[in-house]
Amino acid sequence: MTRLGDLGEFGFIDRVRRQVTTSEQVIEGIGDDCAVLDFHGQTMLVSTDLFLEDIHFRPSAASYKDIGWKAAAGCLSDIAAMGGTPRFMLLSLAAPAGTNADDLEDFYTGYLAMCGKAGAVLVGGDTTRCQGGITIDSIVIGEAVDGRYLTRCGAKPGDVLAVTGLPGKSAAGLHAQENGHAAPKLLHAHHKPTPRIAEGQWLAKCEAVHAMLDVSDGLVQDAGHLTEKSGVGLDIDRASLPIGKDLEDYCAVHKLDVSEFAMAGGEAYELLFALDPKALPNLLDDFCKEFALGLTVVGEFTDKHEEVRVDGKTPRSGGFDHFGK
Ligand code: ADP
Ligand code: MG
Repeated sequence: MTRLGDLGEFGFIDRVRRQVTTSEQVIEGIGDDCAVLDFHGQTMLVSTDLFLEDIHFRPSAASYKDIGWKAAAGCLSDIAAMGGTPRFMLLSLAAPAGTNADDLEDFYTGYLAMCGKAGAVLVGGDTTRCQGGITIDSIVIGEAVDGRYLTRCGAKPGDVLAVTGLPGKSAAGLHAQENGHAAPKLLHAHHKPTPRIAEGQWLAKCEAVHAMLDVSDGLVQDAGHLTEKSGVGLDIDRASLPIGKDLEDYCAVHKLDVSEFAMAGGEAYELLFALDPKALPNLLDDFCKEFALGLTVVGEFTDKHEEVRVDGKTPRSGGFDHFGK
């Protein structure tokens, strides 16, 4: 018997992928942020995301409004990751019979606020009783306007790796929460992430952007999906990782390694993409004019090796695996 813990999350997904069959309408099946489907000439993007009590959220640590917001944000981020436009959501909920219905109303208030901000509407779902904690499964349906979208495949040797925003803040917020430290801005980043939808659409229109995904499990690990799918290697420069003053101050006070949060911190929902370096100066300028969000070059793709290296070495761990592999 092979246990999930031995396979790891991605080993398991690979095994599922080998079992499934496909159809003519499937442009991208298992393996990217969304499935890409040809719907009679329209390019449809679909993704699903689980959000579980005590795994992804703790009702004692966040308001139900924020929990709802984050459940929707995590799902919508996969549309952002491909540069798509979210349109519809479905939300399935499993909860014990004793759950306070007012809490769930607050949950929906936060969930629908995030959907509204992203331009998506909730059109259905399913409800069931369960024994344990609350389980939420969101499905998002979106479209690639004019058929333009980015996948994890397409990074070329010589491309640079760039990331939006400050990818370590959310994980530092979780650290603050678990340790009872006061760090309101980091906690906010953890509880109320913003999927980079407009930014993703903008990047998908740039010819010079070759591949993209969102950082959900940690920058280094997620960068590994770009190298694997694109068949190239990557050198990340640790000193270039964007940190930000809040995270720097937090780590100084609590004697923590800032770059660990930026390299391996999950639930960042920032965009990570491969870019032709020739386009870099103009793209940086234009992006910063368009959005109040930083953009940082943190690495370079290479054909000299096939893995992700940080400062020339294979990193110990670059992110989160649900089965701890
Ligand atoms: P993300 O972090 O972007 O949400 P995941 O790492 O969760 O993506 O999933 C990677 C790919 O594997 C996606 O294409 C997803 O649809 C697919 N996938 C994940 N779990 C399963 C599963 N149990 N069965 C089929 N496909 C799955
Ligand atoms: Mg993703």
